[in-house]
Amino acid sequence: MTVARAPRLPDSSLDLPVTRLWGVGAESAKLFERLEIRTIGDLLWHLPRRYKDYRTALPLAAVRAGAEQTVEAVLGKIAQRRTRSGLLLTEAELLDADGTPSAVRASWFGKQFIAERFREGAVVRLAGKVAFQGRGLVFQQPAMEPAGAAAIHTGRMVPVYKLTEGLKEGQVRRFLHTAIEGEAGRASAVVGELPDLVPADTRARHGLPTIAQALAQVHFPNAPEDLFAARRALGFQELLVLQLALGQRRARWTRSAKAPVLHASDAQVAEWTRALPFSLTAAQVRSFGEVRGDLARTVPMSRLLQGDVGSGKTVVAALAVRIAVAAGAQAALMAPTELLAEQHFRSLRGLWQEDGPSLELLSSSTGAARKREILARLGDGSLDIIVGTHALVEDNVTFHRLGLSIVDEQHRFGVRQRATFREKGQDPHLLLTTATPIPQTLSQTLYRDLDVSVIDELPAGRQPIRTEVREPDALPKVWPWLRERVAAGEQAFIVCPRIGGDDDDDDDARGVAATEIARDLERGPLAGLRIGLLHGRLPAKERDERMRRFAAGQLDVLVATTVVEVGIDVPRATVMIVLSAERFGLATLHQLRGRVGRGDQRSFCVLVSAGAAESERLRAMTETKRGADGAAVPLDGFDLARRDLEIRGAGEFLGERQHGSNELRIVDFDDIDPRLLGDTGAEADRILADDPDLVLPDHARLAKAVGDLWDRYALA
Ligand code: ADP
Ligand code: MG
Repeated sequence: MTVARAPRLPDSSLDLPVTRLWGVGAESAKLFERLEIRTIGDLLWHLPRRYKDYRTALPLAAVRAGAEQTVEAVLGKIAQRRTRSGLLLTEAELLDADGTPSAVRASWFGKQFIAERFREGAVVRLAGKVAFQGRGLVFQQPAMEPAGAAAIHTGRMVPVYKLTEGLKEGQVRRFLHTAIEGEAGRASAVVGELPDLVPADTRARHGLPTIAQALAQVHFPNAPEDLFAARRALGFQELLVLQLALGQRRARWTRSAKAPVLHASDAQVAEWTRALPFSLTAAQVRSFGEVRGDLARTVPMSRLLQGDVGSGKTVVAALAVRIAVAAGAQAALMAPTELLAEQHFRSLRGLWQEDGPSLELLSSSTGAARKREILARLGDGSLDIIVGTHALVEDNVTFHRLGLSIVDEQHRFGVRQRATFREKGQDPHLLLTTATPIPQTLSQTLYRDLDVSVIDELPAGRQPIRTEVREPDALPKVWPWLRERVAAGEQAFIVCPRIGGDDDDDDDARGVAATEIARDLERGPLAGLRIGLLHGRLPAKERDERMRRFAAGQLDVLVATTVVEVGIDVPRATVMIVLSAERFGLATLHQLRGRVGRGDQRSFCVLVSAGAAESERLRAMTETKRGADGAAVPLDGFDLARRDLEIRGAGEFLGERQHGSNELRIVDFDDIDPRLLGDTGAEADRILADDPDLVLPDHARLAKAVGDLWDRYALA
C-alpha cells in the first residue's frame, strides 16, 4: 500500500529559492550559489561587510577628486559614443538644481540603459568615485537614482556586500532592498517572516527590536546609531543561543555525575612534587590544587587550564595524571600534532623514575603489531597512560578504566571528546589546556560550561625576549646579524604572513610570501645556511618532518607561516623574525614570540613592518610593566589581548566579518562586547532556571536553534 503524502511545503518564503524573489534570475542564482546563498533566508543573512556613507549630498561646487561622494544634480546633455576599443561610453553633464552648468560630469562604460532610462533635465542623485579628467571632474561609473525614487544606492548609508565574479554590487543591494522593503505594489516584505528567537519579554527587558527590524537596519541603516542597535540585537540572539547551549550542557554533565573519584593523599602529592626538577610556581600550585579538588569528586571535571606559553602547564597536567594512576585509573594525554605528542611523552617520561606509572606513545609511526599490543594493554588495564594525537586516541580505543583525559592546546576539540567518551560509556575527568589568552569576561560567560584555572606567572629566571620593531629597510643589517647567531650555534624562525606560490590568490602576497622569501634568502643574504620551509599546504607528515629536523638542529633557519608549532621546545632557537608584522594580531605575535626563549640563551624577536614607528599595536609588544618583585617585565598574553581590544576599540564593528568565515555570524570573538556577554549569560540562566529543557512554547524556536547549533558543531 502506498501512502499519499502531501508535498513538503516550505514553512515560509525564507525557505524558497532565491529565484522566487522578484528580479532574481537563474543566472544570479548560480552566482549566489558560490556564496552559499540558496534561499531567500540565506540572502537576508548575507550581511554587509561595510557601508558607504552617502547621507549628505554635496553641492557640485564642493566635489573634489579622489574620494567617494554623493551629489544631487540635474542631468544636462547625455551623449553616447563608442571608444576606440569599441566600448560604449555614456557621458552626462551635471547642472546645479537652478540649472547652472558645472565642471562636474558623469561617465559610464557599457551601460546602455542610462541613456534609455534617464533624460536631460531629470533630477538625480549620484554617488561614486570622482577623478580629474580633461579640464573637469568626473564621477566614474557612479550609481544614479532619480531624486524622487527610493534611496537604495545613493543618498543614504549604502551597504557593501561580499561579491563573487559576475555578481554586481548594485544588483545584490537591489535584491536585498526588495527582500526588506518588499516588491513595488506589495504590502509585505519577506524580512517580516523572520522568526524571533529571543522571547518577547526578554526583548522588552533589553530594549531590543524584532529580528526583522534589526536585519532591515543592518542592511539599510538610517544612521550609525540604528546600525549599532541593530547589530546588538543580532548579536544578542546569536549569543543567547550559544549561552543556552553551554548552560544546558553544563547542567547535563553535572546531573549525570559518575566520574571516578581520583584521590591522592597529601603525603603522596608532596613526594611527587619534591621529585620534580624544579619547584612549582605559586600559580602552578594554585591551579593544581583546583584540579586536584575536581578530581576527588564524582562530578566529572571540565576544567580549562590557561597559561601563557612557557608558563608550565604540562607539569600541572602531569601531576593530575599521577593522581589518576595512583587512584587506579588510566589517563590519556592528547596533543594537536604528533610532534607535540612526542614531546609530551618525553617530558612525562623524564619526570618519573623507572618504577613510575607505565606510559606509551601511540603515533602514526607506531608499527601495527606494537599498536595492537598497546591497545590490548589499554583494554586490560595494564597500561596506565597513553600519549598521542586526538585522532589516534579517539580511533576505536577502548580503555579499561579511563579516569582522566587531557587535551592540549585544542580546547574546542577537547569539549567534543566528552561526547565521544560518553558513547563508550566512560565519563572521565576532562582537563583542557590552552595558551590562548581568553579575557576573563569571555571565559566567565562564553566558556561557562568550563571551570577555569589560570597560570598567570612564568617560572623564575626566564630571560625576557628582547623585542624590536624595525622598518623593512633595516633588513640588510638584520641578515648579517642573523648569520652571526647561526655561526654561534643558534637557530632562527622567519615568519611570513602568506604561503605564496602558484595558488596564492592574494595580490598583496608578493614580498611577504614564505616560498619567495625562502628562495630569495637562500640565493641572497643567507646563502650557505641550511634553510627549511614550513607552511600549511604541506601534508601534515611533511610538516612534522621538517619541524623535527629543525628541532634536531639539522636546519639553521625555518621560514614559515604561522603553522609553526604551538608549544614545541627548540632550545637553540633564539631568533624570531616576523615579516609584515602588522598583518598579525597581537595575540598571534605573542604566540610566535613564545617559540623562542626556551633555552638558557638570550633570545630576540624582530618585528618587521613598514610604518613600524607609528604602530601603537606593534609598540605594545615592546612595552613592559612592573612585575611582582618591582622589576620591569614584558606584557603577557592577557595584557596584550586587552591592549588589542583597547587599541582597535569598538570602531571595528563596521568591520569585515562575513558569515562562513567565523563560527558565529555576527559576533566577533576577538572583539566581543563584554556587556552583551553578561546580558545574554544572565538571560540564559533566567530561561534555563524556568525551563531547563526548553520545552515551553515560547522557547520552541530557541530550542530548535540550540539543537541546530549542536548538530552543526557535533558537540552535544
Ligand atoms: P606550556 O605552559 O607552554 O605548555 P611547558 O609546560 O611546556 O609550558 O613548560 C615550559 C618549560 O618550563 C618546560 O621546559 C618545563 O620543564 C619548564 N617549567 C615548568 N614549570 C617550571 C617551574 N616551576 N620552574 C622552572 N621551570 C619550569
Ligand atoms: Mg604546552
